[in-house]
Amino acid sequence: MARQAWLNGVYIAAEEAKISPFDRGFLFADGVYEVTAVFNGRLVDMERHLDRLERSLRELKFGAMPDRQELEQVHRRLVDLNGIDEGYVYLQVTRGAYGGRDFVAPEEPRLTIFMFAEKRALIDTPSARNGLRVVTLPDVRWARRDIKSVGLLAQAMAKTEAKHKGADDAWLVAPDGLVTEGASSNAWIVTKDGEIITRALSNMILAGVTRHALFDALGQRGRKITERSFTVEEARNAAEAFVTAATGLVTPVVEIDGAKLGDGRPGKVTREVQRLYYTAIGADVAKAAPFVDEG
Ligand code: PLP
Repeated sequence: MARQAWLNGVYIAAEEAKISPFDRGFLFADGVYEVTAVFNGRLVDMERHLDRLERSLRELKFGAMPDRQELEQVHRRLVDLNGIDEGYVYLQVTRGAYGGRDFVAPEEPRLTIFMFAEKRALIDTPSARNGLRVVTLPDVRWARRDIKSVGLLAQAMAKTEAKHKGADDAWLVAPDGLVTEGASSNAWIVTKDGEIITRALSNMILAGVTRHALFDALGQRGRKITERSFTVEEARNAAEAFVTAATGLVTPVVEIDGAKLGDGRPGKVTREVQRLYYTAIGADVAKAAPFVDEG
């Protein structure tokens, strides 16, 4: 069966889904999105993703909310219809189409809501096993990075530049020299003393659902996280680093701007954090992620 998507209340073959070129999502990037991981056929932290979706819509003064119960049901149904054991569900909401191109947002929104699901290995991946090489690049995004906007051009450019430079991904750096976050992830470093550091929440970064879940998982173990900004220099000299994101889960970073962290392999604390997070989402670590015990 063709991949099933859902558009404005209707299940449809993904390739046949169509929206108007007058949609404000297309013309102005006037929309927001969420990506929820699926593991063992179960949605990971869907409620937190929907909370953040609603917050993004409120911040953009959408004036209407999608029906939350319906969104939950569609998430589950797309997982079933597409036979997703491991992968993700994508959800996008735009302000809709009005037949013209007026910068001023119309009073009455006509939401376009689109969802699709895809199979993808999340845990046993080369990045999770071996780690990422990242390069730091100027953060040229807008000032409301707390809103999960579909306006992702700066991130797409940064990731493309990182690839052209022979790296796997980009960390973004504000004009004050402080790292904001990864191009599609939250950034973390670990000091030589084992202190785990990530930037505090503000309009400068996205409040990652995975970041939040890790605070819970580490907190339950009595493990402290320091919320503060760090410079590129500090990151390059850190003992370890990693990134978090819904589909990337916890991914080690082994190199920053060509400088190896530690011995250039995923660090001990990072492995511990991976193990904790995998366990939190219900993975049998020995089976799904044997590498976290390789040391
Ligand atoms: N920061 C940015 C810029 C992102 O795009 C993402 C995920 O797409 C994240 C952080 C991580 O957020 P989450 O853990 O909710 O996926």
